[in-house]
Amino acid sequence: MTTPREIVIIGAGPNALVAAFYLAKAGLKPLVLEQRDSVGGCAITAEFHPGFRSSILAHAAGPLLPHIAADMQLTRHGLEMMEPGVRLAAVHPDGRGFALYSDAQRSIESLRRLSPADAEGYTRLCGALERAASVTAPLLSLTPPDIEALGENLPDIWKFLHTGRSFRKLGRKEMFQLLRWPPMAVADLVSEFFETELVRAAIAARAIFGTAAGPWSAGTAATLLLRAAADPHPAGPSAVPKGGMGALTAAMAAAAREAGAEIRTGAAVAQILVREGAAAGVALTTGEEIAAKSVVSSADPKRTFQRLVDPVHLEPFFLQQIHNYRSLGNVAKINLALGALPEFPALRAPDGCGIAPSAVLVGRLHIGHEIDYLERAFDASKYGDISPEPILEVAVPSLLDPALAPAGKHVMSVYAQFAPYKLKEGESWEKFGKREELLRTVIKTLAVHAPKLRDLIEAVQTITPLDLERDYGLTGGHIFHGELTLDQLFTMRPVLDAARYRAPIPGLYLCGSGTHPGTGITGASGANAAREILRDRK
Ligand SMILES: Cc1cc2nc3c(=O)[nH]c(=O)nc-3n(C[C@H](O)[C@H](O)[C@H](O)COP(=O)(O)OP(=O)(O)OC[C@H]3O[C@@H](n4cnc5c(N)ncnc54)[C@H](O)[C@@H]3O)c2cc1C
Repeated sequence: MTTPREIVIIGAGPNALVAAFYLAKAGLKPLVLEQRDSVGGCAITAEFHPGFRSSILAHAAGPLLPHIAADMQLTRHGLEMMEPGVRLAAVHPDGRGFALYSDAQRSIESLRRLSPADAEGYTRLCGALERAASVTAPLLSLTPPDIEALGENLPDIWKFLHTGRSFRKLGRKEMFQLLRWPPMAVADLVSEFFETELVRAAIAARAIFGTAAGPWSAGTAATLLLRAAADPHPAGPSAVPKGGMGALTAAMAAAAREAGAEIRTGAAVAQILVREGAAAGVALTTGEEIAAKSVVSSADPKRTFQRLVDPVHLEPFFLQQIHNYRSLGNVAKINLALGALPEFPALRAPDGCGIAPSAVLVGRLHIGHEIDYLERAFDASKYGDISPEPILEVAVPSLLDPALAPAGKHVMSVYAQFAPYKLKEGESWEKFGKREELLRTVIKTLAVHAPKLRDLIEAVQTITPLDLERDYGLTGGHIFHGELTLDQLFTMRPVLDAARYRAPIPGLYLCGSGTHPGTGITGASGANAAREILRDRK
């Protein structure tokens, strides 16, 4: 081995790149090792059919926390965010629909056509989520406190007290509401604001995205609150990078490099080396060993502790906790190359969204028209089946960014839920023709709303949870590196004994989505981990 590096970071997804930037800024010259041929993790753009480029996996960001984007000067590094007016539209098979815009008034007008009561409910929900976010947003950038040594962590306690003060400022009624919500089923929560099933389902879908939960599962309101902490708009964020999600991580990589980080792609870590009880570096699959004073893993917790660390270095109880950590994925991704923009009659119809599909599909389209539809979609996955009528989130990024497809043609990016990693026939998506079944089911579900879609498809790319594990390193194919449920959040993410970005091995840290807050591409896990590493260095 050569002279030890200060820091080696495993993976080059969004969180690793954010961590690398802050650590490099502090002068530690981290070396980032990515197993794939390009940086970006799940935030990448690639050509999946000649002339057609798409955000291959995630097509929207958490959003990235503004202070992180500002610190990294991502605009200077080439990032251009595009903001469509429509955030989310939803359509019913009976032809009704509505759109939620960034502009609250336009959203209210759209909802009023469905139900005046829901237009009023929307105003109430916007207010409630904004007030909740005024308390919860600071928690995203907080290190969960060490519950066994509260007195030794004064900076964390101080920040908590600050959060407590914001909480008290809410007043009795709002305080009660915020305490009451997290354990609730999101289906109950949305029914307190809306009477129309289509509206209830579209908002509830945000809470269950990427989780093994249906809208009637207890605690799903907590996930909605967690997401609202990053963006309190009921429909979530809509801004997308020009050039797809890969443009975001390319800008992050440029910022990290400029700050002093070195990034190597095609460098798969096979083992985290532990010497004399402390992290000592990594060994690559090629046999190369790289010595380092600290190792930071952005790989998911199961991958880190069950595959990269020799279990002899971990306590049986800790290994048991990691074993019990739930990270079985349920989301598949379909990318379609289309000869033209499909017509969605419900978008144009006066009873639907009442505007041209091209004006709606710049945002995201939700398919799943009632709470029971969402719940039935989840039911199938519990028994290892692909939902016969999956919940879909559809985006056509080439509308805002025509360079992604040949002139006049389009790319359509579709999240499909539920597609369980663990199929009842076994774990092989290939063996049982399940990949084809999934694609057929998704196209059939889309065709209910866009009857001529099939004729426009020039090529498809189907990415199953098994592909997410094999090709992108997500254990169990879980898109958030583990379930975002109350028992796996905050001081319990990923597990009690590693919730402060520190592994139980000195010098080994976690910085990926399997740590707090872990919800999508906010950059918070990476920034929080870097702060803790620098704290230890002091
Ligand atoms: C289909 C899909 C849809 C999504 N939709 C959204 C969305 O709409 N909004 C949102 O905010 N988020 C979304 N996400 C989640 C989001 O992409 C992740 O939360 C985010 O990418 C996590 O970033 P990360 O850096 O922690 O990990 P990742 O992005 O997973 O990056 C981890 C990196 O580590 C690398 N790695 C793993 N093991 C090794 C090893 N042994 N050696 C070297 N490198 C290794 C991997 O190759 C990967 O590049 C989606 C994800 C998927 C898959």
